[in-house]
Amino acid sequence: MKDIKEITKEELDTIKIITFDIDGVIAPVGTIIKETIDEDSIDLYMESKKLSNKFIEDLNKLEKYVRLNFSSGRNILYLKTLTNQIFDKETILQAENGNITWVDNKITHPEYPDEYFNQLRDLKEKIKELKKTDQRIRGFEPKLFILTVHCEEMEEIPNLVKQVAGDDLYCLWTNEGYDIGSKLMSKGKAIEILARAMNISSKQIMTTGNNYNDAEMLQVGIGVTVDPKRVEAEYFINHKPDELGGELLVKFLLEYFEK
Ligand SMILES: [Mg+2]
Repeated sequence: MKDIKEITKEELDTIKIITFDIDGVIAPVGTIIKETIDEDSIDLYMESKKLSNKFIEDLNKLEKYVRLNFSSGRNILYLKTLTNQIFDKETILQAENGNITWVDNKITHPEYPDEYFNQLRDLKEKIKELKKTDQRIRGFEPKLFILTVHCEEMEEIPNLVKQVAGDDLYCLWTNEGYDIGSKLMSKGKAIEILARAMNISSKQIMTTGNNYNDAEMLQVGIGVTVDPKRVEAEYFINHKPDELGGELLVKFLLEYFEK
């Protein structure tokens, strides 16, 4: 892995899109979910971090040179809200680990068979059953194409996924819970599809990330990891514990593009 400072002018000049992972890259981690389900109601409390005002200013400058893409395990509504201040027809959103892409003001997603949604539903029911007696499970984040359970790290969840779906589904630890979804789609595959649709090489898309669900997209694009101990990429960016790697990357890119 190379320090991002070693990237060449030639490489930087070919970049058309910068893809930002959100949690731990451009926003502090720490989403809080509390869900209570009883006979006749579902009460959901959710608290998420925002982008800093300074960072939004920097993104406004950066989008003069490249298109901005935000790729996250989170849902499309959250991504739209998070980026609303800078959102325009050039902004790209990829939600639910690559399952939903918003590009040129149009949303696309894969078609899954009933069997897939049934597996997610069975899993949700089984996890809800566990939640009744297990305080480690806090609730589910609203999603369309994947299942996200907020909980402590606990082997019961990956075990249930194996039991219900064998090897069909991934079950990735996110530091605040598990993302469960089809292995046919990932953030990396979504970057490949985006590159094809835009008629560019996936190596003209810079990707950032800090976690297991970013591993593939970091390899597919010009990857910049902000957590090289956890996930590898061609480049890494050094940052102090109280700094966000994505914010530093934008500063670095602006210094280059504005010259
Ligand atoms: Mg992340």
